[in-house]
Amino acid sequence: MRFVSTRGEAPPVTFSEAVAHGLAPDGGLYLPEELPDLRPFLAQWEKLPYHELCLAFFELFADDLEQSKLARIAEASYENFTHPEIAPIRHLDDKLSVLELFHGPTLAFKDFALQLLGNLYEEQISRTGRDLSVLGATSGDTGAAAISGLLGKKGVKVFILYPNGRVSPLQERQMTCTGASNVFPLAIDGTFDDAQSALKEVFNDHEFKERVGLSAVNSINLARILAQSVYYLSAWLRLPKESREDTVFVVPTGNFGNVFAGWLLSRMGVPISEFRVATNRNDVLHRLFQTGEYALGPVSASFAPSMDIQVASNFERFLYYFLEGASEQVREFMSNFHQRGNVRLEGFSDLGFSSSRVSDPEIPEIIKSIHAKYGYLVDPHTACSFKDLVPDRPHLVLATAHPAKFPAVIQEAGLPEPTTSSLEALKDKEIVRYSIEPKKESIESFILENIG
Ligand SMILES: *Cc1c(COP(=O)(O)O)cnc(C)c1O
Repeated sequence: MRFVSTRGEAPPVTFSEAVAHGLAPDGGLYLPEELPDLRPFLAQWEKLPYHELCLAFFELFADDLEQSKLARIAEASYENFTHPEIAPIRHLDDKLSVLELFHGPTLAFKDFALQLLGNLYEEQISRTGRDLSVLGATSGDTGAAAISGLLGKKGVKVFILYPNGRVSPLQERQMTCTGASNVFPLAIDGTFDDAQSALKEVFNDHEFKERVGLSAVNSINLARILAQSVYYLSAWLRLPKESREDTVFVVPTGNFGNVFAGWLLSRMGVPISEFRVATNRNDVLHRLFQTGEYALGPVSASFAPSMDIQVASNFERFLYYFLEGASEQVREFMSNFHQRGNVRLEGFSDLGFSSSRVSDPEIPEIIKSIHAKYGYLVDPHTACSFKDLVPDRPHLVLATAHPAKFPAVIQEAGLPEPTTSSLEALKDKEIVRYSIEPKKESIESFILENIG
């Protein structure tokens, strides 16, 4: 299997190369050259435990990795999850179920992809003999999940920039209390956007990038998307047969990575009829699906901070399929969008998406009402899913984080603060963090001093 860029100006690569590059050299995102048809496999996959399903799915793409290595990677990646089913389904009533994606080490769905990516990087290092420096910027969950996925891995140093005072205290503890010597949490004075733009400058310094073996962890890496497709597959296989083809998958959405991973499965023949793009007040995607207009607005802080995004980077992957693989049209769309911040698209209606939007004050209200009705506590991101559900249709809501990660919003909903033993344990650990200016020179010299 080869992987091509959405912009069509980069040479096709193998799976391992697509993972190592992250972004394609023409600025596009990698996608499989052809999508396999999964229908012949579905019946035989029904009984597989999670890691074996993951292996069976990845074997279709990662055909340049030895099967035994891939098997070890799939197994190791879900070993640190605390629920035996990895992604269990909770039935709230006969039409409403929740897919719990928060049983990983950092209690958010990003663990599914980043535990696997960490193991893929480790395999790459042992194969090539070249060490890696991983650099990322985070507004919360990604940093914690990336650090956990790369913790203690031989040959990897992890540098994560985050805006000082703007991530939640628990998220900061998840990044800074690991005790691992290969992890460097870098608090910057500034916003997430300042961190992001400094990061981009470092990645544009090709000489530096080559010298320290720099790699990115953000949701543009194709391995992250494919790892997320697996839990949609696992969920679909476990839904009641009589209703699974009619079930709406409801996905709290920011960067469009998670919902795209599910939609990609439907392109591979898995009969999922509808994906609900559930947004918070940062509703660029909701407006797109309602009106066909993709128009940037300002980013507003919300109770669901991991969805406070306007430019949904994974949207480009969807666009590639929507434009039937015409990469020159993808390039034109992206360049118009970057110049004007505003583009129109026609003809969405039969692509299997619907959308909804939740205002900020609604988030604690929904948390409260779901708790009152079902005795079930949802986190503020998941809460965005319970809006405009279709009467009489079955829904599966993807729960993207554990409510204990966001105690302040739960309190706002008038409910007692939840906690977990792993979060409690963090409170006794020593914080190790570094302060740094959000400048290319400062970041580069910090990395050089610390890679030894
Ligand atoms: C990252 C994140 C999201 C948004 O996921 P996308 O793939 O960016 O759409 C939603 N909820 C939580 C808890 C997250 O951490």
